[in-house]
Amino acid sequence: MSCQPDLLSKVYHWLKNKQPCLLCDAPSQRLIALCDDCEAELPWLEWRCSQCALPMPNHQALCADCTHNPPLFSKVITPLQFSFPVDTLISRFKYQENWPYGQLLSTLLVQYLEYYFDEGGQRPDLILAVPLAQRRQRQRGYNQAQMICDCLSKALRLENPRQLLLRTRETISQQGLNAKARRDNLHNAFALSEPEQVKNKHIVLVDDVLTTGTTCSIISSLLLKHGAARVEVYCLARTGKPHTVEL
Ligand SMILES: [Zn+2]
Ligand SMILES: [Zn+2]
Repeated sequence: MSCQPDLLSKVYHWLKNKQPCLLCDAPSQRLIALCDDCEAELPWLEWRCSQCALPMPNHQALCADCTHNPPLFSKVITPLQFSFPVDTLISRFKYQENWPYGQLLSTLLVQYLEYYFDEGGQRPDLILAVPLAQRRQRQRGYNQAQMICDCLSKALRLENPRQLLLRTRETISQQGLNAKARRDNLHNAFALSEPEQVKNKHIVLVDDVLTTGTTCSIISSLLLKHGAARVEVYCLARTGKPHTVEL
């Protein structure tokens, strides 16, 4: 029976509760669908700006933008750079609803955050997914940032009030807009259903990729205006300098 070896290998993986690597199909020796070789080759973010996590060529505390015109969030925490194959995985997760890729990257973020908290990183009081424009959510049928947020909330036991941060009006795509136009486009686009819930809280915004940071900065301004003590961003990956457009 020609199918037998394949079936046997599937049963083996099932019995061991392991899955083949999503990138190369080799057996993964761990509980995540990623083999050691593919994990080692991922574009891990090493030198980075300590505020916005922009990839840096060497160890410097802050990038030029954060030195001269810092964003309103205090810190971005992310394990990966937005380059191959992470860019492809995020694109398939985001536009083709391929949740296993999103789940894999979310699991890497969970592991990274577990390590960060173990090393003394401050756990937030609340995590909030960046809301998608309503028209885009209707077309797509889901908000990828909320899916990541749900994963973090469950795995790390972080509170995620889903209806607190709202998108209140339609906006055009941020793609191709300059910095001022991006800010104008998002002006008054977000609101809080119960603003008193953020007072004195350490809040984290969750998104798939941080590009220019304009959206997160605008939401941070809203949260800080209502008394949030601190705002940070968790995301799957961070773009480098050439990526100046919002995805
Ligand atoms: Zn692999
Ligand atoms: Zn920076």
